[in-house]
Amino acid sequence: MVWPSSGMVRTGMAEAERSKGPFSPRTADRGYGHRFYARLVLVTLCGGVGAARLLAGLVQVTPPRDITAIVNVGDDMTLHGLHISPDLDTVTYTLAGMDNRETGWGVAGETWTVMEELARLGGESWFKLGDRDLATHLFRTERLRAGAPLSVVTAEVAARRDIAVRLLPVTDDPLRTRVTLDEATELGPAGTEVAFQDYFVRLQHQATVRAVAFAGADGAKPGPGVLDALREASAIVVCPSNPIVSIGPLLAVPGVQPELEARRDRVAAVSPIIAGSALKGPAARLMSELGLEATVVGVARLYAPWVATLVIDERDRDLADAVEAEGVRCVVAPTIMSTPEKAAALGRTVLDAVE
Ligand code: GDP
Ligand code: CA
Repeated sequence: MVWPSSGMVRTGMAEAERSKGPFSPRTADRGYGHRFYARLVLVTLCGGVGAARLLAGLVQVTPPRDITAIVNVGDDMTLHGLHISPDLDTVTYTLAGMDNRETGWGVAGETWTVMEELARLGGESWFKLGDRDLATHLFRTERLRAGAPLSVVTAEVAARRDIAVRLLPVTDDPLRTRVTLDEATELGPAGTEVAFQDYFVRLQHQATVRAVAFAGADGAKPGPGVLDALREASAIVVCPSNPIVSIGPLLAVPGVQPELEARRDRVAAVSPIIAGSALKGPAARLMSELGLEATVVGVARLYAPWVATLVIDERDRDLADAVEAEGVRCVVAPTIMSTPEKAAALGRTVLDAVE
């Protein structure tokens, strides 16, 4: 059976109750009318932009302190000697309200003095790092060099940016997404394996992909708190992130997927694929190139072993039965988070789906 969109058919909590304030309806053990709303301890699985947007919605409808975000580090890289963590930074900048909504990455109101001067010197300038953004990478790199694990540095940055959501890199160990290209590019002949950012930024994800691998994953330990968070969560939300290169690396860390399978009933995902495409980025293309169906049904099939509920966009309503045929409960709702209000509405949909 297909769940009606909670955006349209509202069961349970009434709108009037929600308007008592964003957090009041979910305070522990407080009853509203005939229903009680238990406090949710929420864990989200995150890539970059799609996850950041959903988190920005969730913090409007549930206490940020009750949310733990487990974030991909497969996109991380070293450039100019600096440790760059694009997904952690996207999530952090967004929750701090300093994200650049036009680009979808980096800091709003950014300046480019360093980059311009670097380009004049003939330095590597294909990966744009704004002046304010650079401060993050300088801070992180210095702390890592002094021996602090990535999880500690991430928590320090989050605290200094007043972020109440707990941000956990999926691992403190080096895990790097590698992409084998299926065609010749400026980076080499067909069959060349490149670092994720070479594929994603340098080649603008325009090359055909033969395979994706997660170097270092086998030996990686889940970061401190990661498995406990999954074990103790009352609900686990898979953000609308790239299933292959954002969620894939999380599952590749030993221990994570078994824990998700054990908690499957409590796991809900939001599809990053809408009407057969990604809103941005190579998710749909990567899925087809790797032999998966680039639709919500393909997402359902891929996630079915460890996801019980998939939220799909209204535009895919006709595929809801096919999603359920994959053994995944289907919720149809508006999922395009073009405004903070729409992100909050999707946050509510997701909470309703896992409650
Ligand atoms: P990154 O920012 O490049 O790390 O990318 P993500 O892993 O977050 O994946 C981007 C994916 O998020 C794309 O497949 C988009 O379709 C999806 N996405 C971004 N914004 C939204 C949104 O508002 N709604 C939904 N459903 N998906 C989104
Ligand atoms: Ca990313």
